Amino acid sequence: MTHSGIARKTAALVILLSMALLCGPAYAQQAAPALDIRIIGAAPAEPGLARDGNLRAGAAVADITPPKSAWNVMMAGYFNPQQTPQGAHDKLHAKALVIDNGQVRLCIVTTDLLSIPINLRNATLAKLSPSAGLAPDRVLMCASHTHSGPGGLTEMKFAARFLGGFRPDLADFVAAKIARAIEAAAARLRPATLGYAAEDVAGFTHNRRGNKTINPRVAVIRVDGTDQKPIALLVNFGTHPVFLDEDNRLFSADFVGYMLGAIEARRGGVAMFANSAQGDQNPDQDEKLTTAYARAEAYGKRMALEAMRIAARAPTRQQAALASILGDLQLPKPTVDVETRRVPIMAMRLSDVLLLGVPGEATAEVGLEIEKRARQFGFELPVVIGLANDEIAYILSREDYLRGEYEAKMSFYGPDLGPLMVAAMTDIASRIQPVSRAYSAAPAVPAAESGPAPAARDAAGQGRRTSRAR
Ligand SMILES: [Zn+2]
Repeated sequence: MTHSGIARKTAALVILLSMALLCGPAYAQQAAPALDIRIIGAAPAEPGLARDGNLRAGAAVADITPPKSAWNVMMAGYFNPQQTPQGAHDKLHAKALVIDNGQVRLCIVTTDLLSIPINLRNATLAKLSPSAGLAPDRVLMCASHTHSGPGGLTEMKFAARFLGGFRPDLADFVAAKIARAIEAAAARLRPATLGYAAEDVAGFTHNRRGNKTINPRVAVIRVDGTDQKPIALLVNFGTHPVFLDEDNRLFSADFVGYMLGAIEARRGGVAMFANSAQGDQNPDQDEKLTTAYARAEAYGKRMALEAMRIAARAPTRQQAALASILGDLQLPKPTVDVETRRVPIMAMRLSDVLLLGVPGEATAEVGLEIEKRARQFGFELPVVIGLANDEIAYILSREDYLRGEYEAKMSFYGPDLGPLMVAAMTDIASRIQPVSRAYSAAPAVPAAESGPAPAARDAAGQGRRTSRAR
């Protein structure tokens, strides 16, 4: 390149940088990174043509607490080789919800694990009986991100250093248990109704990277039998289950176990937790309580009450459109010694809810941007599900990445990863646009809660308040 060429390019760069600074860091002003997405599968084949149908649903639970023979494993979460398990404080679970409308059958799996490494997802799907009727593009798997579950589940390069070496025996045990839970849920399909609602709650999460961004929204998806008996309640909220620290030597689901236990005891059915964009979120702790388990219990039970209160006012419908799409996204070149690879990205539509499966730990800022963009396509309730189907660690906006610190160091694919993931999730959401205005003829009916009486029951429609637009 000639000297004048360099000068011209430098001048152009200065102008571009000045423009970028003037425009601020909003995603909209940034050039979208080039997307390389392959569509693996979709249901129906054209997900935009999903139609309403009568719902059936089933749910099942598996105990995935590692057996004693596998306790010589590192616990996952704190990267501490000395943190080996001495027992289980409470059980770790995998829970499966299968929902079918006669046209499409979908499955959501939640787990008390740090993450779902791709090899665990693939092993689970390989063990799944064809009789369950679920192709890979219909199955969304996610992890609560408990830091008191087992390591040893991932084959990825970084795993040996951070999570202990790969343990095929343990991964095989967990995959088989999850597969059996999915099959059991599919075998229990019965006529069902679907409801959903969301609301902001205060006092549950804070940003641990020193900025103020949080997403205080609790979103719930409620699936009941037409006999009014609850089948499942799925709770979505974004924070780290880290009440228990690296001194803890007992397997535990952390606050999530207390929350779901309280919901199941009070309401019946299977309670499930899908984490959201929790990359920079830690839970607000009640410091007056002296033990970590007491703080986890208080927090979990408080969130259970919020989730049941929100669910109680969710109008339900017997008919809903279901659709899903699974793609894989080429990641940028890694900045550290990890695999250059493609990762699954997924969107799943349940009526006018759009679940967006992000394969890692997005910050609240990144998650809110993904949901905002999905809302533009007409979805009433876009819901980011983090730690879904794979784990690529932290996903930050470019500015946040360049600020450095722990989460940026644990973000392995450079400054463009956040913008790339936002663009990719937007792309996948656009392919599954709702057409419910054309097809959803059946009106939702007001909530009829079979669990605790709601404090105030809204009329249909009003009760479906979603979080304010951001
Ligand atoms: Zn984390």
